[in-house]
Amino acid sequence: EGGPTEYEKNLIEILTNQLIISIAKALYVEKIDLMATTDGLTGVYNHRYFQERFSEMMEKGKRYNETFSLILLDIDFFKKVNDNYGHPVGDLVLKRVSQAIKHGARKMDLVARYGGEEFVILLPQSSKDSAYKFAERLRKEISEMTIVFEGGRLNVTVSMGISTFPEDGHDKAELIEKADNCLYEAKRAGRNRVIKAGEIR
Ligand code: GH3
Ligand code: MG
Ligand code: MG
Repeated sequence: EGGPTEYEKNLIEILTNQLIISIAKALYVEKIDLMATTDGLTGVYNHRYFQERFSEMMEKGKRYNETFSLILLDIDFFKKVNDNYGHPVGDLVLKRVSQAIKHGARKMDLVARYGGEEFVILLPQSSKDSAYKFAERLRKEISEMTIVFEGGRLNVTVSMGISTFPEDGHDKAELIEKADNCLYEAKRAGRNRVIKAGEIR
């Protein structure tokens, strides 16, 4: 007979088992890495990962004299969504908005959940003008997006603040503060709008 010997059968079984274990381990490590860097609800990067990459971008920006922009985005009247439709619909809105941001962003951009209903977008090699164009396009797109859920549909709007390295600041805190001030101003001015640093004060 030409079939495998007992020895060969055992060898194949051992090798197969080793392979399965290696693949399972690799998948596990990948999953753990993903869980450590991403937000469980929306799948975008988490706050901690954003801070790490923001630091790197700052270092690189200083070293090579590279411009980059930062956008803080906050959903308008989000508390009302929870109050009127319930928390699960609020969660769905967070997912849809984060998808829209991811969809509109370039591959090199970093999208993260900054806090509850706030997102941050880091745009490498982007001037304030190009960040503003992107933000305006995104703002319009989100305002025109209908979110369908069991029992209804709704629309949301977002407000954004933009700051740019190096013109608006030389450290992380300063850039965040500038973008946050702009965001605050966008809210105050009526929401569903984008304000860039330099436009105010
Ligand atoms: P504004 O236009 O000024 O931004 O008003 P707002 O209602 O969006 O802002 P506010 O900060 O008052 O409310 C934010 C709400 O976001 C409150 C909180 O319950 C809700 N929230 C935070 N994280 C989550 C979440 O993971 N899921 C859901 N469903 N809601 C969340
Ligand atoms: Mg907020
Ligand atoms: Mg809000």
